[in-house]
Amino acid sequence: MKLAMIGFGQAGGKVLDKFLEYDERTGSNIVRAAVAVNTAKADLMGLKRVPEDQRVLIGQARVKGHGVGADNELGAEVAEEDIDEIQGAIDNIPVHEVDAFLIIAGMGGGTGSGGAPVLAKHLKRIYTEPVYGLGILPGSDEGGIYTLNAARSFQTFVREVDNLLVFDNDAWRKAGESMESGYGAINEEIVRRFGILFGAGEVKRGGEVAESVVDSSEIINTLASGGISTVGYAREELQRDERKKGLLSRFTGNGQEEEIDAATTTNRVTSLVRKATLGRLTVPCEVAGTERALLVMSGPPKYLNRKGIERGRKWLEEQTGSMEVRGGDYPVSSSNYVAGVVLLSGVTNVPRIKELQQVAIEAQENIDDLRDQSEANLRRLVEDDEDELEPLF
Ligand code: GDP
Repeated sequence: MKLAMIGFGQAGGKVLDKFLEYDERTGSNIVRAAVAVNTAKADLMGLKRVPEDQRVLIGQARVKGHGVGADNELGAEVAEEDIDEIQGAIDNIPVHEVDAFLIIAGMGGGTGSGGAPVLAKHLKRIYTEPVYGLGILPGSDEGGIYTLNAARSFQTFVREVDNLLVFDNDAWRKAGESMESGYGAINEEIVRRFGILFGAGEVKRGGEVAESVVDSSEIINTLASGGISTVGYAREELQRDERKKGLLSRFTGNGQEEEIDAATTTNRVTSLVRKATLGRLTVPCEVAGTERALLVMSGPPKYLNRKGIERGRKWLEEQTGSMEVRGGDYPVSSSNYVAGVVLLSGVTNVPRIKELQQVAIEAQENIDDLRDQSEANLRRLVEDDEDELEPLF
């Protein structure tokens, strides 16, 4: 599947850069065009792979290239004011060659959190291609302002995009590790999962011997449920002698061995589907109640079989209670792994989102209380001063 990716804000830009690196490394070709948008000049300059003429600095008149300092209302205002400059970079994209837009942003900051929903709304008005979001939730140790930003931005972003793919930093932080030092590994995890998912729709039929290749319309149809999505992943390394044995049995035509191989392949595929679904998701959630799902099995074609995928798909139907579970393979001959990626689209029971909203409501009440209090204090101060001081005018 070919995407036009827009990285909004610092996290958005860094993850976009990682996607470009992933494409270079694996030859997946999912990033048809890349645009990075930011209010902070230094962040744009720190990017390695996004072409320089596709980096857009917005809000120069307001913040002079210094960023919006986690103020997402300012981030949204600046994006609205400078939407033509962003559109200028998007005009360079051959949109007829892309299957969808993907806007990537950290939800806890200012620029991406405020600007991403504004851009989503704009793109939806202009183009017919689907507009997806990849929203990164802040870690719970980042503090109240980040949570409040994320809760507010999330509500708007999910409304403006065709589907919001969510990644929760909090669920991925390793114990004792600061968020900053962990971002490298986390960003790898993000691009690996979404890279396999979107890369699946890029395989040309006939290019690799495969039984049932996933195509981009299957990804688009799964995401058409709208709402929020999460992605699971599991992989198994293939042993060298196993790969050799597999090749030998093909040449010798040993029927019994082939049967054993087929059973092993089916079992491996079904067990990877379970591990991917029940393991750590990009945002943890209740699997039951998922509206639509897509299963992608990736690896050398001879380790992927229709029977395994069919069983895995049935199992997913039972777990999700959904009648719309698609499945297929993504053949990668050179890989030493068999991997399973599960996309759960339209999930409803997401504890982290509920928690964010609750914290945001409480923070808003606190802010309102503080504002009332400071207004009362100011009034008292002015009234007291009136008795003692001569007014300036
Ligand atoms: P902005 O530039 O104002 O949009 O803000 P940032 O993107 O710097 O930060 C927003 C949030 O994104 C932070 O609160 C973090 O939770 C998260 N974040 C920042 N950098 C990264 C990164 O490299 N990877 C990931 N996964 N999250 C990040």
